[in-house]
Amino acid sequence: MKAISTEIRTIDTSSGTIRYTFERKEIKNINLRIRHDGQVFVSAPDSVSQTTIDAFVAGRKDYIFHTIADFQQQDVPCSEMQYVSGENVTFLGKNLRIKVEKDSREYVSSDGIYVFIHVKRPDYYNRKKNLLNSWLDEQRRAVFGEIMQDAHNRFTAYHVALPELRLRNMTSRWGSCQPKQGIITLNKRLIEAPKSCIEYVVFHELCHFVHPNHSKQFYTLLQVMLPDWRERKTLLERCVAI
Ligand SMILES: [Zn+2]
Repeated sequence: MKAISTEIRTIDTSSGTIRYTFERKEIKNINLRIRHDGQVFVSAPDSVSQTTIDAFVAGRKDYIFHTIADFQQQDVPCSEMQYVSGENVTFLGKNLRIKVEKDSREYVSSDGIYVFIHVKRPDYYNRKKNLLNSWLDEQRRAVFGEIMQDAHNRFTAYHVALPELRLRNMTSRWGSCQPKQGIITLNKRLIEAPKSCIEYVVFHELCHFVHPNHSKQFYTLLQVMLPDWRERKTLLERCVAI
C-alpha cells in the first residue's frame, strides 16, 4: 500500500497568491476542488510533474478566486435555528420560508414556497423543532425512497436486491453502504441538495453492491449508469457543505 503524502503548496499569480493542499493519488487526471471554507485541494497522478500541476492551478486562477469570493458572499447558515416565521429551510436545492401558524391541530405542510408549521403554542421552541424535523424525515423517506427505487431498477441485471434505506446525521460523508447486509445509509442533510445530487449519491452506493471498492470497474459502472456523475458531484459540493 502506498503512503499518502499531503503537501501545502503556494503559487504566485497575477491575481494573487494561491495556497493549495496537494496530494498524489491513483487517478487519471489532475483534480481541483474548492471547499466552502475557501480551501483549495489538488490531486494528481504520479506521472504529472509538479511544474505542470502548478501551471494547471495558475491557469485556473480566475475560477479559483471567483469561486472563493462566491462562497464568502453566501450567507453563512445560522447554526441554531429559531423556528420562527421568515427563517429559511433548504430543501431539494431551494429555500423554503418558514411560516409559523397558531392552530388547534399541529402539523407541517408546504406549498413549495413556504413551509407552514401549525402549532398550538407558536412560542414553544421544542415543539416546533420536533414538528419540522419529523416532517423533514417523512420527506427524506419519500424522496430518497423514490430515488432509490428508480435507481435500483437499473441494477436488477446485477442481481442487486432493493436495499433497506437508513437515515443518519453524518459529518463527513453523504452516504455509506453495507452491501452484504443490503443497507444504504444516507446523510440526512442530503435533503438540502437538488434531486440530481441525491441521485448521484444513491447510484454511487448502489454501484458498491456490484464493486465494493473504488476500483476501476466501480468507476466504469458508475460512468455507464450515470454519465454525468462528476457534474452532479461538483454541484453537490457547491450546494451543501458538510
Ligand atoms: Zn464509495
